[in-house]
Amino acid sequence: RGFSAAPAPAPAAAPGSPLDPSRLRNVAVIAHVDHGKTTLMDRLLRQCGADIPHERALDSITLERERGITIASKVTSISWKGSELNMVDTPGHADFGGEVERVVGMVEGAILVVDAGEGPLAQTKFVLAKALKYGLRPILLLNKVDRPAVSEERCNEVESLVFDLFANLGASEEQLDFPVLYASAKEGWASSTFTKNPPDEAKNMSELLDAIIKHVPPPTASLEAPFQMLVSMMERDFYLGRILTGRISLGVIRIGDRVHGIRNTPSGVEKIEEGKVVKLMKKKGTNISLVDSAGAGDIISMAGLSSPSIGHTVANVEVMTALPTVELDPPTISMT
Ligand code: GDP
Repeated sequence: RGFSAAPAPAPAAAPGSPLDPSRLRNVAVIAHVDHGKTTLMDRLLRQCGADIPHERALDSITLERERGITIASKVTSISWKGSELNMVDTPGHADFGGEVERVVGMVEGAILVVDAGEGPLAQTKFVLAKALKYGLRPILLLNKVDRPAVSEERCNEVESLVFDLFANLGASEEQLDFPVLYASAKEGWASSTFTKNPPDEAKNMSELLDAIIKHVPPPTASLEAPFQMLVSMMERDFYLGRILTGRISLGVIRIGDRVHGIRNTPSGVEKIEEGKVVKLMKKKGTNISLVDSAGAGDIISMAGLSSPSIGHTVANVEVMTALPTVELDPPTISMT
């Protein structure tokens, strides 16, 4: 399939044991609308997400197909060279500011997709501001370099526009030192050096995937603690009921564990509901992988509780302190 040579993958985690956090990467994909996020995600999945069986998957049932379960979750996992990349889509619109904040609060890295022809636009600035605020060091992906109007000079111009944007948004020295890749998501490739037509054996997303492993720090989180997760996304499934998605802050969650949903109130912690973990799921392309456990640093979807929602904490029943929720900026009023 024309991939560059991959090192031997790390040994598979034993069934029932969560991945070591050092093998995880949580990455937000941020962009102005139409700059190519959807196309990019699709290409990444085609290269390595959808067709590699998850080593921790309990079975390979395609729940969506066989039982009609659908998870619209914006999180998709990709297996790459022994690591697992949780890629989180973000809405490219200021109306969803709260959602963007919740996403950048769950990840340690970001890919900033910018159309090399158009350069950075209003929503590029908006989503970048959120990413920088959360201390992320985005990787710049200049997309659509296949377009006739996009030259190396144009890319240099756009790079310096993006640099100025970072600087104006108060980026740190480290954040200003962002890696740059050149891509045609449409043709399915990314390159760390400028080209409009890479050789066939390099017409793939390997360099982007390698850049993610290299530049995005793994989550630092302890598996040796009672389980705690902040709920960042919520959806409903006809069969499973409420599905809660979040990044595990501490500990390990397993099928059958007793957990409870809690939240902070002015008068202290309130217990919302106690119950059992019925299903743990990860989305892999269009498939849903069932897993029997997940650990700190990972992003997981769970079914079993029907009352907690976004901003609440799901935790081991012995935990009686809710996690801090994301601080939202005051809403911005758009005049357009
Ligand atoms: P999103 O809104 O960021 O998700 O953008 P899409 O992925 O939907 O892409 C928007 C439009 O740009 C679509 O018509 C794509 O086919 C096109 N597009 C995306 N990536 C590329 C690319 O690398 N080169 C070219 N020429 N077009 C692209």
